[in-house]
Amino acid sequence: MLPQFSYIRPDTLDEAISHLQKGDAAIHAGGTDLLGCLRERTITSSKIVSITGLKDMADIRETTDGGVSIGALATISDIGDNQLISKKYPGLARSAAEVASPQLRNQGTLGGNLCQKPRCWYYRGEFHCLRKGGYQCFAMGGENQFHAIFGHNQICAITHPSDMAPILVALGATVKVAGPKGKRSIAVEDLYVLPADDVQAETVLNLGEIITRILIPAPPPGLYTSYRKIRARRAWDFALAGVALALVMNGNQVSRAHIILSGAAPVPWRSTEAEQALTGKTLSSKTIDQTARAAVAKATPLDKNGYKVDMFRGMLTEELHKVLTGAHGEVPLR
Ligand SMILES: Cc1cc2nc3c(=O)[nH]c(=O)nc-3n(C[C@H](O)[C@H](O)[C@H](O)COP(=O)(O)OP(=O)(O)OC[C@H]3O[C@@H](n4cnc5c(N)ncnc54)[C@H](O)[C@@H]3O)c2cc1C
Ligand code: SF4
Repeated sequence: MLPQFSYIRPDTLDEAISHLQKGDAAIHAGGTDLLGCLRERTITSSKIVSITGLKDMADIRETTDGGVSIGALATISDIGDNQLISKKYPGLARSAAEVASPQLRNQGTLGGNLCQKPRCWYYRGEFHCLRKGGYQCFAMGGENQFHAIFGHNQICAITHPSDMAPILVALGATVKVAGPKGKRSIAVEDLYVLPADDVQAETVLNLGEIITRILIPAPPPGLYTSYRKIRARRAWDFALAGVALALVMNGNQVSRAHIILSGAAPVPWRSTEAEQALTGKTLSSKTIDQTARAAVAKATPLDKNGYKVDMFRGMLTEELHKVLTGAHGEVPLR
């Protein structure tokens, strides 16, 4: 059952921020995650501040430098269907198509997708675990088959739930944020918090801060982007393992490689080892094999999720072979 809460739908950003900065309040965008969190008591705010009445926050437009600016209230369907995005960043359009079900994509927004709460079944259940302020991570010695193999530090092994954050990190996107102290920009890569830094925070957003827009830089010549996700069921499900690629190609030469793993770590996981193995190299079966091995070399799987190591290696091998053979259907932009 939903707890009792008051509901406010301000018309202006300033009004929304002033309600939020008083504390004990949560932002409502599409509500697809928030309502579940309220029901499960993972969010216990007594005031819900809907940002759906705010103007100019749902559009998708080209920037003067050839990039794209997406309002935080743009729905995931809007992003998946947008021609500009499909043309410039096919991997982002693909990631939108991989999110949940059509109904959830129609209702859920990009801002909400980036800020949704993690899906660990202990956290979403009745367990008072570390992330909820308790003394123990129940997943460490428990049912951890869907949990992280990187970045958990034996503290908390959630996997970051968003399918869209990894490709936005790969593309070098930033979020624009408005809050009580004014406006600021944060690289999507820096938006998220590892358990070793703060086990109870998922993002670096401060009290009262709202993501207003997401900015993606112009695609450089030769940019190739893709997102691949493996899930346990063919129906809607979160990523068991996923990989977002943003490669800058010159023929088969890789001049820049951004490789981000999803379903891997508490944050979208940048595989610097894989990026280093690929950057400056000619794409070949040998370099692909070296890159895929490098991606998992530092994995620290838990008791029941060792299968993810092979899954990531195999998936990255397949995705890079698609680049090599042009089998992906996502032609590099020239
Ligand atoms: C059954 C189910 C399956 C799903 N499967 C997937 C999946 O496969 N892949 C995937 O990526 N996601 C999946 N999701 C998550 C879904 O994508 C999110 O629920 C959705 O994107 C959230 O968007 P929303 O607008 O509804 O956010 P809300 O539910 O309104 O908000 C979510 C959170 O973000 C905060 N928030 C919202 N907007 C902002 C903003 N502009 N600035 C700061 N904070 C904000 C809210 O306070 C809240 O904590 C699934 C969800 C469900 C319920
Ligand atoms: S993995 Fe994190 S969220 Fe899950 S039980 Fe452990 S501390 Fe809690």
